[in-house]
Amino acid sequence: MRNIVILGSTGSIGQQALEVIARYPDEYRVVGLSAHNQADLLGAQAKALPVAPRTTLTSRDGLDGLLEMCRLDEADTVINALVGSIGLRPTLETLRGGKQLLLANKESLVAGGELVLAAAGEHEIIPIDSEHSALFQCLHGEDPADVAKLIITASGGPFRGRSGGELSGITLEEALAHPRWTMGPKITIDSATMMNKGLEVIEAHFLFGVPYDQIDVVVHPQSIVHSLVEYVDGSLIGHLGPTDMRIPIQYALSYPRRRMAPAGTINLVELGELNFQAPDNEAFPCLSYAYRAGRAGGTAPAVLNAANEVAVAAFRSGACGFTDISDCVEEVLGSHTILPVDSVEVLEEAERWARERAASWLAAWGNG
Ligand code: MG
Repeated sequence: MRNIVILGSTGSIGQQALEVIARYPDEYRVVGLSAHNQADLLGAQAKALPVAPRTTLTSRDGLDGLLEMCRLDEADTVINALVGSIGLRPTLETLRGGKQLLLANKESLVAGGELVLAAAGEHEIIPIDSEHSALFQCLHGEDPADVAKLIITASGGPFRGRSGGELSGITLEEALAHPRWTMGPKITIDSATMMNKGLEVIEAHFLFGVPYDQIDVVVHPQSIVHSLVEYVDGSLIGHLGPTDMRIPIQYALSYPRRRMAPAGTINLVELGELNFQAPDNEAFPCLSYAYRAGRAGGTAPAVLNAANEVAVAAFRSGACGFTDISDCVEEVLGSHTILPVDSVEVLEEAERWARERAASWLAAWGNG
């Protein structure tokens, strides 16, 4: 029996994790749930469990509550499905406590990759992000020295094929209409700007220890190939599957074993063809900003991520336009003095600076 804490249980990943867990009541038990602000849904989730979790909490309980949940004695596994860099400290706490971390919160690695790796030590971090789950599976049993390249696929989002000039008038509703994946609003907008893919490049760099020059992004509109590894002998090993997050969630739980399909299967003949194309870095510059931040290292990825969080929130509230998201990120990243990351405090100070800088840049945009 695995005893599981889910951080962010009312979000898209959290809800799907509960669905997967409910199929195996003899294998998995939920011992803690946390939600940001959907207290009613959290209550309903707790009630629906066969054994009531000892702990549930909402954001009223603050970060300390989350950290306490990561330390629960009866828990051996933590699913971190929080949204944003608020997920970093719970990730560190889980790893330091020697618990198994199933990570959907990519911002933990983006913002604090070096700290997370140090806290993980020899412990394996099991990714839930679909591309990273795919890479994790393609790398399984192979010698890391034989890896030539990681190839991360991107659907291209709802605006694939549009030029930069066609993007400025985009509405929130259009940005939230992702063609392939059902996800929370933040990540859906990140997919539309391609920032999600940029964050995933940084996530992959830390998770798999591969240099940025050996991580490529390929646009693949069908979202059937979830990522690939190219090996030194020219072999490409890819992971294909239905576009359904319950599959990587279930794999993270059952690893290294597999369980019956939680979603459908793929009929290759019906599918007919798979297409691949280069990303359009001119219309969607966020991907190149993420590479820039990743290569610069230190506090740069955390600053990129924090500026993006502020800009996406502003876009969601109608305070700025779609293309202002990438402009804001570029401006904040460009004016940041990068520091080495030797503590969470250094990171959090850099993030605080980035949030302020992004907010004032966006306010100036709003006034003029
Ligand atoms: Mg992903």
